Amino acid sequence: MRPVYSNTHLSNCQILFDSFFRFCYTFFKISFEFGDLMKKLMICIVLIALLLTGCSVSEPEEADLYAMDTLMKIKIWGEHEDLVLVTDEIHRLDLLLSAADSGSLLSQINLSGSAELSGDILTLTQDALSLSEKTGGAFDPTVYPLVRLWGFPDDAYHVPTQEELDETLPLVGTEHIHMDGSSITLDKGTMLDFGAIAKGYAAQQCVNLLEENGVEAALLSLGGNVQTLGTKPDGTAWNIGIADPDNPSQAIAQLSFFGSKALVTSGGYQRFFEFNGVSYHHILDPKTGMPADQTLASVTILCDNGEVADAYSTALFVMGLEEATEFWKTQNDFDAVFIMKDRTIYATEGCAELLSGCEFTVIKR
Ligand code: AMP
Ligand code: MG
Repeated sequence: MRPVYSNTHLSNCQILFDSFFRFCYTFFKISFEFGDLMKKLMICIVLIALLLTGCSVSEPEEADLYAMDTLMKIKIWGEHEDLVLVTDEIHRLDLLLSAADSGSLLSQINLSGSAELSGDILTLTQDALSLSEKTGGAFDPTVYPLVRLWGFPDDAYHVPTQEELDETLPLVGTEHIHMDGSSITLDKGTMLDFGAIAKGYAAQQCVNLLEENGVEAALLSLGGNVQTLGTKPDGTAWNIGIADPDNPSQAIAQLSFFGSKALVTSGGYQRFFEFNGVSYHHILDPKTGMPADQTLASVTILCDNGEVADAYSTALFVMGLEEATEFWKTQNDFDAVFIMKDRTIYATEGCAELLSGCEFTVIKR
């Protein structure tokens, strides 16, 4: 789907002011030479007032697009080309990383079982291996055979029998990935799935590109992945809502902060199906093959890096509140908000001071 763009009217005030002062200089010169100064001075003052009003609030460039199986919204306080750069980058990564799309590079690797990796896929594989190790296997990039067994890639939902799970579980685990430099070999039947980090990686890549291009402020919302760049031009904090798991179009709480951050939510409500009155969601426990912890409704991670935030949101959802709390205590690169199925909310210290709009319990170190 092509992105829907909307335009900025005054994206570069400096150029406008330069031209304006050049205009005024010439105007005054002519006025002094030909008289009628007061009348022309009045016109100048009105023009200055109009320009200042126009420049005080610059409008962002905006686009809505559908990619990576989700609706995305991009806002950039920059040039139109920056917006095109970001949407192109998202589509490029989408084509590369979708395990469900038989034409993607990732699918080809899964199909052939071995490949020489480079670029984004090499980086993602290396990052995924280290994030999996860090989270004790709660985040597992080899979960795809299970995801397929449950029918999530093509909406052909199926509740597996224990026998089917027992047949599939031996294909899952990072020990089935063999790296030799940049060459990868997968054990027979093992398949990679970057679904839990692809959006976070894409958001981080986009923000890096924008920074390289000198863009000072942007807000990227890629489904449950929000990424901010810099400070909003009006100087106010970024206010990002956390979706209400029972009514995802509404916010249950909001986090307010300044600067560049990633805010990523994983929740069972984001993708699920019901069978015989039981709900089954898409975040799987690699140890059992079943949908993870059914007492958590969502986990939101606040972190400096989008890819790490994305891996952690999935991993901490799999861990459940207690294990996730212990994990947080051992790390110092993120904070989290946990929303339970019964709607009680827990926030780690760093998030607690930024959270509003709800009652919550603070988790301390
Ligand atoms: P997220 O929405 O970021 O939590 O990612 C969920 C997606 O990641 C699912 O749709 C699966 O494709 C994949 N996935 C499910 N469970 C896991 C897991 N334990 N580790 C890694 N990826 C997973
Ligand atoms: Mg994730």
